[in-house]
Amino acid sequence: MKHLAVIPGDGIGKEVIDAGMEVLDAISEISSFNYDGEFLDIGSERYLKTGELLTDEDISSIRRKDAVYFGAIGDPRVKPGVLEQGILLRMRAVFDQYINLRPVTSWFPLVPLKREVPFDIRFLRENTEDFYMGAGGVFGGSKKDAHVSVRRELYDLEIELGTNSSDGDDFAFEIGLLSKKGTTRFADYAFNYAGMRGEKRLTLVDKANVCTHIYGMQRTIFEEKAEEYGMGLDFMFVDAMAMAMIVRPETFGTVAVPNLFGDILTDLGAQLQGGLGMGGSGNINPNGVSMFEPIHGSAPDIAGQKKANPIAAILAAQMLLENQGYHKEGSILKKSVRHCLDNRFTTPDLGGKMTTEEVGKAVCEYILNQKK
Ligand code: ATP
Repeated sequence: MKHLAVIPGDGIGKEVIDAGMEVLDAISEISSFNYDGEFLDIGSERYLKTGELLTDEDISSIRRKDAVYFGAIGDPRVKPGVLEQGILLRMRAVFDQYINLRPVTSWFPLVPLKREVPFDIRFLRENTEDFYMGAGGVFGGSKKDAHVSVRRELYDLEIELGTNSSDGDDFAFEIGLLSKKGTTRFADYAFNYAGMRGEKRLTLVDKANVCTHIYGMQRTIFEEKAEEYGMGLDFMFVDAMAMAMIVRPETFGTVAVPNLFGDILTDLGAQLQGGLGMGGSGNINPNGVSMFEPIHGSAPDIAGQKKANPIAAILAAQMLLENQGYHKEGSILKKSVRHCLDNRFTTPDLGGKMTTEEVGKAVCEYILNQKK
């Protein structure tokens, strides 16, 4: 029995998680997968009523679970950044979910590419370091010195910057930092993941020709690990990677990418596979509690209109199943999505006329038919 924390969140989060839960129920009817789900009321409504974002109680109940199934958060009534930082980013930090897994799969013809090429890129984005540590500030002028402290599960670090200039110059900075520990665990996960998928090579994306220090160190660590795992390693500069994703996406398997570039490339990937309604993602701590969610946000513009595409949330459920060791069940789920798309059982974003619930039901029907 798997214990899940279920956080539907805001806007269409609730609608797509409803569909995803029905799909998990269908899977549990035809297989040995069994689960219970505890719904947690985390999101804008509670924040607006009580001011609470992620409470100690939320954290301790999530800690007791095997995984989290998450919808979306975001609300026009709340200042941008408050919910994202206080809930999503905090959750990733508290549970040290240092890998962001984002598959980019071809769902031809519902993709912008003109030719039919089956592709299945697995982006593994490092989720805790690089330029997204929030380690930055402004200094100069009257505020001559800057002091940044970085706290992570892995290390404690303090950085001081100063200037002798007294002419009132101002500076702003954002530190991109990679640690040996953080990069080593990232590389270990990436090579293990690629190996588990039967791949012999891994692609590492960077900009080592310009940011020589951080990405130079990253290359060295990945090279050592490639040798240790007996696997091949290809380097791609991020700009070249953006172009290659459009012209030859089928040539990539597992792709490891640092935090900032990963943010951008995976959004490009989202469009390549048919839009925000088509992608699931996992925030993974291989030794802790991982969280699975659709890549889209709360989409307030279509919330409550039954138009939300539930496929992204359903694919997030598929990733949850695989992460928990239910590979056969995960592949039935993926086939059921393929079946729906091939038969154009789709919501308006993919040119269809079905509601969120109807698409969810079509997926369930296919799954339940597998029992016979
Ligand atoms: P956030 O900052 O929370 O990511 P956002 O508005 O920038 O919010 P989304 O909420 O993901 O981003 O929505 C972006 C656009 O994509 C909206 O027009 C929305 O209607 C559309 N969209 C997002 N998810 C879906 C979905 N599952 N089905 C259909 N349309 C969607």
